[in-house]
Amino acid sequence: MADKLNATIYYDDDADQSYLDDTTVAVLGYGSQGHAHAQNLADSGVDVVVGLREDSSSRAAAEADGLRVATPVEAAAQAQVVSVLVPDTIQPAVYEQIKDELEAGDTLQFAHGFNIHYNQINPSEDIDVTLVAPKSPGHLVRRNYEADEGTPGLVAIYQDETGEAKERALAYAKAIGCTRAGTIETSFKEETETDLFGEQAVLCGGVTSLVKQGYETLVEAGYSPEMAYFECLNELKLIVDLMYEGGLSEMWESVSYTAEYGGLTRGDRVVDEHAREQMEQVLEEVQDGSFARQWILENQAGRPNYDQLRSAEESHEIEAVGEELRGLFSWADEEK
Ligand code: NAD
Ligand code: MG
Repeated sequence: MADKLNATIYYDDDADQSYLDDTTVAVLGYGSQGHAHAQNLADSGVDVVVGLREDSSSRAAAEADGLRVATPVEAAAQAQVVSVLVPDTIQPAVYEQIKDELEAGDTLQFAHGFNIHYNQINPSEDIDVTLVAPKSPGHLVRRNYEADEGTPGLVAIYQDETGEAKERALAYAKAIGCTRAGTIETSFKEETETDLFGEQAVLCGGVTSLVKQGYETLVEAGYSPEMAYFECLNELKLIVDLMYEGGLSEMWESVSYTAEYGGLTRGDRVVDEHAREQMEQVLEEVQDGSFARQWILENQAGRPNYDQLRSAEESHEIEAVGEELRGLFSWADEEK
């Protein structure tokens, strides 16, 4: 186990936004990350052009937000920094369209390392390739910036042709608000592998499986779906909020002694060595590229398994129960 913090963290004082002076940044895509990066960059005084297909439904939104919009090819032609914020599965095709517009010394900028790390994009050698990844969904990247707060982020350099790749990446991180909160230095490999592992084993995959298994255990034992929903899904947020604010200790201190004792004696029985072995296996599939290969092939085949898994998840009983309960109680309305 790590006994000390050893990451390099950059703050506003470590970043010089003048590295983006006289630079046009093309933001390709106007989704979760794209709309936030484009607007934050523009509000920080950076010249931004948003690259979207002619028929993109996001065009109107970007124009309404006061941004210049062009096609991805036109945008890349105008820019010295091209920020690739279309979905990861589409990035290789978009790169093929725009690659001839990248001149020596330009920067290809990502918010996730997947396509570089797994060789789905092989950038030409005369450009910089950087990563600035907010550790947060885009709407928070935008909301935090507007509130004069930052969003924690990551920075990594894959190719440094100009000798200024890191300075430019940090300038970009500053302009979107990431160095205000702190931006950790990492590599494309580490960002990609930890991001995939986290979302598979703990965040998206692990937590939904834990919720479903807990819910099913209670309902199959004859308890009411309403009770099972509140216990296994709704209350999760309260527990996670405590962990977010003050770590595991703050959570344990806030729950009853009974909950603490029960949790400490039973938690590791539920998520046990078997779960740990599976986690190690999942990590291996990320590291050896077999997950990436599977996902790329799945997309090439038109996502048959993905569609089936998604509809099975949507039709899980806990979803119907939750929808009904959220309609009956006032807390959900207040948060909307
Ligand atoms: P998204 O799905 O929200 O948005 C993608 C946008 O791309 C669409 O809104 C559309 O405007 C555009 N688009 C789609 N197809 C296109 C095409 N063929 N040509 C041009 N534009 C097209 O994507 P996102 O979640 O913002 O992800 C963008 C990148 O940011 C990815 O690399 C992702 O891994 C990374 N990232 C996402 C998050 C997150 O929380 N969403 C967090 C960190 C990093
Ligand atoms: Mg992630």
